Amino acid sequence: MIFIGVSMSRSITEPINEVTKFANKISQGIPQQSIMVTSKDEVGILATAFNNMVRRLQESYATLEQKVAERTKELAEKTEEAKNSERAALNIAADLKVEEGKLSEEKTKAENLANDLKKFKLALDNTSDQVVITDPEGTVVYANASVEKITGYAPEEALGKKSGALWKSPMPLEYYQNFWHTIKELKTTFIGEIQNKRKNGELYTAVISVSPVLDEKGDILFFVGIERDITKEKQIDTAKNEFISLASHQLRTPLTAINWYSEMILGGDAGKLTKKQKGYFNEVYTASQQMNDIIKSFLNILRLETGTQTKNLVPVDLAAVSKSVLTELHLQAERKKLRILEKYQKLLPSVMTDADLTRVILQNFVSNAIKYSRDDGEVSISLEFVTKGGAADGKTATEDSVLTAVHDSGIGIPENVQDKIFSKFFRADNAKKQDPNGNGLGLYMTKIMVEMIGGQIWFSSKEGEGTTFYLLLPKEARRVV
Ligand code: ADP
Repeated sequence: MIFIGVSMSRSITEPINEVTKFANKISQGIPQQSIMVTSKDEVGILATAFNNMVRRLQESYATLEQKVAERTKELAEKTEEAKNSERAALNIAADLKVEEGKLSEEKTKAENLANDLKKFKLALDNTSDQVVITDPEGTVVYANASVEKITGYAPEEALGKKSGALWKSPMPLEYYQNFWHTIKELKTTFIGEIQNKRKNGELYTAVISVSPVLDEKGDILFFVGIERDITKEKQIDTAKNEFISLASHQLRTPLTAINWYSEMILGGDAGKLTKKQKGYFNEVYTASQQMNDIIKSFLNILRLETGTQTKNLVPVDLAAVSKSVLTELHLQAERKKLRILEKYQKLLPSVMTDADLTRVILQNFVSNAIKYSRDDGEVSISLEFVTKGGAADGKTATEDSVLTAVHDSGIGIPENVQDKIFSKFFRADNAKKQDPNGNGLGLYMTKIMVEMIGGQIWFSSKEGEGTTFYLLLPKEARRVV
């Protein structure tokens, strides 16, 4: 215990003051230094106790500070982590939004596609033409509603069956060989007329177009066949053809008489004619000749169009045919003072073809070349062998062939009508001016005849400069139905 008195010496009061000040300091915060009281009395003990307390306090404070720092660091790290997680979450959300957008785009696309397909199927189902899709073996995998209207078989009945076994066609074997060769080997579209049988046994005529659908490797995925029933049109056609045939034959008899008597009168059999009479009878004779030509063309077209024109394939020497045509037409050529050139390749092989049809084709080419030449012009006929794959003036020969080219330096064919040249009755204006007597049937017939013998026909021409007509005939006879 400390005893305090006025007389107390400084050595006693000073330490007490020091301790009191120190106690005050402690009440305001933890002092940094210790108290320096070294006496061994109670004040000294108190000071030592204060010092110990302060040291412990300092230690605890330091530990606390360290913990606070650690905790703060931890918290900061956690906050950063949380921020990162938040950022990641935001990124994921953004990605999800993009994915969602893509998905909805894909969904819309799929829906549109499904709608298109629906519309497409609806259109196919309701088209008046028969549409059949088969696998590469000819088994029906789709048939539209018109199949029933045309054949009598419901689409469900047709599915899974071979198309050939359904509408048993009476077409010849040759037709089918050509059909399969075209769509399976050449892998191109087959277009042709066919006779098929309906479910009730009735025969009908149709135009068919069958195309192979290929994958990227060129293998056949399936065939799409479109068929149009043309039975009624055929019947009308037959009736029309019968009428033309009858009318033509009926017209021929009086025409022969007009021709015959005109020739006799012009030949002086009925006495001498005045110049005027001769002129009139010449007109009658030319007109009756023209009419005769038209009737002959009509009858030829009838034969070609109705398929009654026969063909007889034999080895034909095209150079010999060309020479004979030129001999036949030499008077016309001489009248116009034309120079005729013949360019025949040596050792030209014969071609398997119909001699008569080939002759008519060359006759048409040469007579047109003469007809549409100007006086003193030049007409040339060339014949050359073209091997399979070889170039034949703008075309490629698909087999060993002979190319005939008839060239003239005449009026040419105007560019804007070149696509009409093989149409029935078509004549270009410059041709009508040059020779009013044509009928526009020659090239139409020629094209049909060329197709009958399995050849190809085309031309190149420049108005005012000249024309070349080409005929490419395969060396071996091609199957043509
Ligand atoms: P046509 O000679 O009786 O008029 P074609 O059927 O033989 O009938 O020919 C049809 C048309 O093709 C002719 O009217 C003519 O316009 C054109 N043509 C054919 N060959 C030639 C040619 N060598 N030069 C110019 N035009 C031609």
